[in-house]
Amino acid sequence: MTGDIMTISRLRMGTDGSGVTTLVGLFGCPLHCRYCLNEFCHDTGTIYNGTPRGAYTPSELIDVLKKDDVYYRMSGGGVTFGGGEPLLQSEFIREVCQRSPREWKKRIETSLNVPWEKIEPLIGSIDEWIVDIKDVNPDIYKAYTGSDNHLVLTNLKLLASRVGPQKLHIRVPLIPEFNDYEDIDISVKWVREELDVEPEEFGYVGNK
Ligand code: SF4
Repeated sequence: MTGDIMTISRLRMGTDGSGVTTLVGLFGCPLHCRYCLNEFCHDTGTIYNGTPRGAYTPSELIDVLKKDDVYYRMSGGGVTFGGGEPLLQSEFIREVCQRSPREWKKRIETSLNVPWEKIEPLIGSIDEWIVDIKDVNPDIYKAYTGSDNHLVLTNLKLLASRVGPQKLHIRVPLIPEFNDYEDIDISVKWVREELDVEPEEFGYVGNK
């Protein structure tokens, strides 16, 4: 089994959860956000250094992560899986999590716009789910991403019921030319009422 990895960014602080983290970006995404900063995540033909894409086995990735083991343990950090949409490779992520030290925090940055079957296997492995919901309004979501958000809202409710609100970190972005502060208020209200989570509002969207 290999993970299709487009980037490994070490020694990050304050952007992917608390503590020192390594961001592992995985190829593939079902969405086409208009302001995507990683548009190349959709590129299925990329070859790196003669290797098909960025293929890593779970052991190879863990060897890279281990370089910062002491920082993870001292700061409460760990590994954060992002993308692209990391849940498209949930089996690989599960394998990495299961073979990694329990003390490392495992986080995932996701749109949750994937079938529930991609989410459920990770429920016992992920310490924090960082979800960018874009906007709960289906028309805004569709205009911005090109996709429906029905799956996102359904998955969010199911996930909240399975892992509890304390493991959810919900981001509600301002998306220039697509939503405004009134729309954000509606999304925030939905998150509070349906998930019992206080979401993070942020001013500009680009990526998850
Ligand atoms: S912004 Fe994130 S969710 Fe949207 S297309 Fe880019 S990688 Fe996918």
